Amino acid sequence: MDNLRLKALAVLKRFYGYSNFYPYQYEAIECVMNGRDAMVLMPTGGGKSLCFQIPALLSEGCTIVVSPLLALMKDQVDALQANGIPAAAINSSQSEAFNREIIDQVFAKRIKLLYISPERLLTEIESWSAAMKISLIAIDEAHCISQWGHDFRPEYMRLSMLKKQFPDVPVMALTATADRLTRNDIVRQLNIPDARIFITSFDRKNISLQVIKNLSGKDKLHELTRFIDRHKGESGIIYCLSRKNAEKMAEKLNKIGYNSAAFHAGMPTAEKERVQQAFLNDDIPIICATIAFGMGINKSNVRWVVHSNMPKNMECYYQEIGRAGRDGMPAEALMFYSFGDVATLMNFARESGQSSVNIDKLRRMQQYAEASVCRRRILLSYFNERLECDCGNCDVCKNPPERIDGTVICQMALSAIARVNENEGVTTIIDILRGSQKTDIVAKGYNKLKTYGVGRNLTFAAWNSYLLQMLQLGIIDIAYDDGNHLKITEYGHDILHSMRTVQLSKFYYDNNRHKPEKEAPRLPVDIPLNQSLMSKLKELRYAIAKAHGVPPYIVFSDKVLDVIATQKPTTKAQFSTLYGVGERKTEMYWRQFTSLVASFLNSQDNEK
Ligand code: ADP
Ligand code: ZN
Repeated sequence: MDNLRLKALAVLKRFYGYSNFYPYQYEAIECVMNGRDAMVLMPTGGGKSLCFQIPALLSEGCTIVVSPLLALMKDQVDALQANGIPAAAINSSQSEAFNREIIDQVFAKRIKLLYISPERLLTEIESWSAAMKISLIAIDEAHCISQWGHDFRPEYMRLSMLKKQFPDVPVMALTATADRLTRNDIVRQLNIPDARIFITSFDRKNISLQVIKNLSGKDKLHELTRFIDRHKGESGIIYCLSRKNAEKMAEKLNKIGYNSAAFHAGMPTAEKERVQQAFLNDDIPIICATIAFGMGINKSNVRWVVHSNMPKNMECYYQEIGRAGRDGMPAEALMFYSFGDVATLMNFARESGQSSVNIDKLRRMQQYAEASVCRRRILLSYFNERLECDCGNCDVCKNPPERIDGTVICQMALSAIARVNENEGVTTIIDILRGSQKTDIVAKGYNKLKTYGVGRNLTFAAWNSYLLQMLQLGIIDIAYDDGNHLKITEYGHDILHSMRTVQLSKFYYDNNRHKPEKEAPRLPVDIPLNQSLMSKLKELRYAIAKAHGVPPYIVFSDKVLDVIATQKPTTKAQFSTLYGVGERKTEMYWRQFTSLVASFLNSQDNEK
């Protein structure tokens, strides 16, 4: 192995306690160590930070990290310091005297990584150039430079001067946004045309995907609470469509004994900060949020994300589920989806400035929600990445739909639609099929139709599912511009007149289908024991975090606790070799953790 790789691996083990690099981390490190510019495109959790932190540790001088958000800076500085790496941030939330002190320390070569906002960097840098040895300039969240991106920040545009002022200092741009337009923009605006580009897969394998369709409000809450119950003591986010929904959801959950809080852009800043901090510190496990929540959150132990309604496009969906499982441990994403969501979102899309683009995006999202093939394949193909085989970690893969001859079912529905002259929406059609006594059904005389009640052997949810599939198959259409009425397509007419047959996925809503899927136990005998050890480890982590004033995941990630629970180290030597335990954390924590493990093992022996 070459010298640089050995040195990099040694630093990785010493400071972070990791033994191997993630894909392309080393290549990116090598690139800037050789003085070249680099662009790193990796998904959330892909390990971008190490790509500039390791070069910082291997080089003389200080690495400058440009970051757009205070919270992100603070998080990274906390994490670095916890690993014994001298890092600091300059920002407006600190006193000027403190900021100056940090700059003095940089000049005194006591800081290896300096985090700074773009506007601040631009005002400071004039005075630095000569006397400061800058080893690398890292531009985090580099998509902020692009007007095409979802998070444009004008201050970022002025960063183009960096390459002019420091032609010999390598620049590394990092982002989790990989689309070509944004990528080209970054290279152009930062003046790094020769940057080598490192792209990894955007597949987040550890996040399982699930969609539950068409539940009424009560059933939805029931499924949601069952889902949360499976994640006792774990942090998660519930995304809601509106501020009001977020508040209502939090209220509902708290009323039935959960500990949750709402978070949305309409709340006072102080309250938002309080809620976010409580979430980071594991004091409030459940956040009911609008999309405003998540930017600037690095919390690695978010174990689940729920979409209470379908999001408006795949980009949002991918970003939001991506907040779960950054530590690489299993995480779950659950989405609830209904016709009503589509109607609501369709209205938003139409009112937006770019309605045709937004409607197309909504359609793609809908196709994902209604998919009867591997969801991950659909998700990744949207981002132009092809998955060679089914993922095995989505609901479709786990419960492949059973196919049935759906011709008669379709004919019943089509005939009902025809008999109301294509002038009714989904709910009324189902009411007619099921022979509902609702007053407006009777008032309109629908109870006299020939199709009235022919479908009463199927539940409302079943009909909803079949109509959805008919829509997906192009048998019917929803006229969004005409009261959401159902229309029969040409293909539908063929089926109605028995010229074609149709296969449908069988609907079944029984408890089996939504039963918690059991993870394959790794060590069957140890599982219950490890779980009780795990919760003790979490308590210890929480106590340490409180004492040090940092979030628990900064002390150790869930993955490290899992390793401790499995390996059960009882000596300092054993503890020091564990995944995620570097030199600093060994010194800081070995006593507390090994004695906890030892007393746990003791109590187990006594029970025998
Ligand atoms: P990103 O910035 O791309 O979202 P991070 O740099 O925050 O990702 O890394 C995500 C998680 O993976 C962190 O907990 C980090 O410590 C961990 N990690 C990064 N690189 C490695 C590695 N080579 N081996 C093990 N864990 C790693
Ligand atoms: Zn799958």
